[in-house]
Amino acid sequence: MAVSLTESSRDSIALRTDFSLLIGGELVQSAHHLDVINPALGTVFARCPAAQAPELDRAVDAARGAFPTWRARSFAERAALVKRLSQRLRERQNELAELLTREQGKPLSQSVAEIDRGAAQSDGMVGIEIPVEVIADDIDKHIELRYRPLGVVGIITPWNAPVNLALGPLVSALYTGNTVVLKPSPYTPLTTLKIGELLNEIFPPGVVNVLAGGDELGAAMTAHRGIDKISFTGSVATGKKVLASAAATLKRVTLELGGNDAAIVLDDVDAKAVAKKIFFASFVNSGQVCMAIKRIYAHERVYEELCDALVEEAGKAKVGNGLDPSTELGPVQNKMQYDKVVGLIEDTKKAGAKFLAGGEIPAGPGYFLPPTLVTDIADDSRLVQEEQFGPIVPILKFSDVEDALRRANDTRYGLSGSVWAKDVQRGAEIAARLEVGTAWVNQHRTTSAFVPFGGAKESGLGRQYSALGLKSYMEPEVVSVAKR
Ligand code: NAD
Repeated sequence: MAVSLTESSRDSIALRTDFSLLIGGELVQSAHHLDVINPALGTVFARCPAAQAPELDRAVDAARGAFPTWRARSFAERAALVKRLSQRLRERQNELAELLTREQGKPLSQSVAEIDRGAAQSDGMVGIEIPVEVIADDIDKHIELRYRPLGVVGIITPWNAPVNLALGPLVSALYTGNTVVLKPSPYTPLTTLKIGELLNEIFPPGVVNVLAGGDELGAAMTAHRGIDKISFTGSVATGKKVLASAAATLKRVTLELGGNDAAIVLDDVDAKAVAKKIFFASFVNSGQVCMAIKRIYAHERVYEELCDALVEEAGKAKVGNGLDPSTELGPVQNKMQYDKVVGLIEDTKKAGAKFLAGGEIPAGPGYFLPPTLVTDIADDSRLVQEEQFGPIVPILKFSDVEDALRRANDTRYGLSGSVWAKDVQRGAEIAARLEVGTAWVNQHRTTSAFVPFGGAKESGLGRQYSALGLKSYMEPEVVSVAKR
């Protein structure tokens, strides 16, 4: 592993402060602030305003005030504004991507891809129609099912993909006629605040409000009487708090939570050929992806060959500052997560597991860890049981596919999973038995605006994207007419 630190010293000299909250169509400062760390350097490079209860009240008031006019607009009018946003995101892509890499750590090409994907998914979502559904229409009666917007949607996002994970719920909420208060993670608020400036150019005042803030601001949103729905993306532990808090006002909730995705590699695959894809799906964003592969179950017939091929991939992957164009894997995003992953590495070493690649903890600066592959580890170890959310993945052997399925499903998580097979029909049959929201065959992490995404079990509640996801930002209402 080579760690390159070619970052300009600019970050450590000039603190960037050109950020504002967006409330009721105005870009505003506040009495409090957040310091934002560049994880490649481990130092503060920017400062932004942080909202507290008074700003939240103002933002909610603005969103409530804007709601009647916004909901009265047609889907087509709202879609046109969303498309302008996608256009502006593409125009500003490079500048936003550089900021995203500085605050989040991922390689610049992946920051560009995240913004591009967010824009493409936004365009895709506003092409989906939510028609009135006629349930019955005869001589006696006409019954139809209509969908109307809920009101104000509070959107809370995590730090691993702040742009894409904001745009999904944001566009869903806006397109279906809701107004929004959006809060990014305190670790990565900056790109979202800059997108707030673009939103302010496009949408009427109050329709979207963007508040950076700490965890307590998220908690205040879930309790706020003026918010009708929370769309939350983050950890299972916080998701449970969100659900409990939302119960007091019976807010609607969508929870997109953590995962512990299994990949089951069957005996008929060309291990070398699938290794590249499996490696990328495990280690992209240094494993900090909800739907990354977090456990690899390999049939004994292909196990050795797969291990060798994955080790080869790990050896080739260049770890470094995301601003260096040759970097493939950036740092872990924050110190808390870095300490957690280092703890898991140490625990795994103590348990006597075999490290095929990585495992060493480089000296700083920055929160860098090498891609780490582990074998000979027990099913009940922390690494297999917990969501590692970092660049360490166990490879587990099986001889019977029923056993592999049982072990893959033996978890409270249920976000997604995959089966890798030459016989795709057999692969699909096995994939359908994974207890997850999405089961892929010969791929992992493929999502689209037209395909519902979300977690089974403790990985979430509800679905994002597709008509199913969009309808979760709306209240179904039956209109039932007696004709005589
Ligand atoms: P987190 O739960 O710590 O924080 C997420 C957001 O919630 C942040 O904005 C935070 O400020 C806010 N928050 C914290 N406490 C809160 C509370 N009591 N009430 C309301 N909001 C609160 O998660 P994280 O560490 O930022 O993100 C990593 C986790 O997110 C991982 O578990 C990952 O798998 C998950 N994730 C899930 C998806 C998905 O689509 N299923 C996508 C990305 C990440």
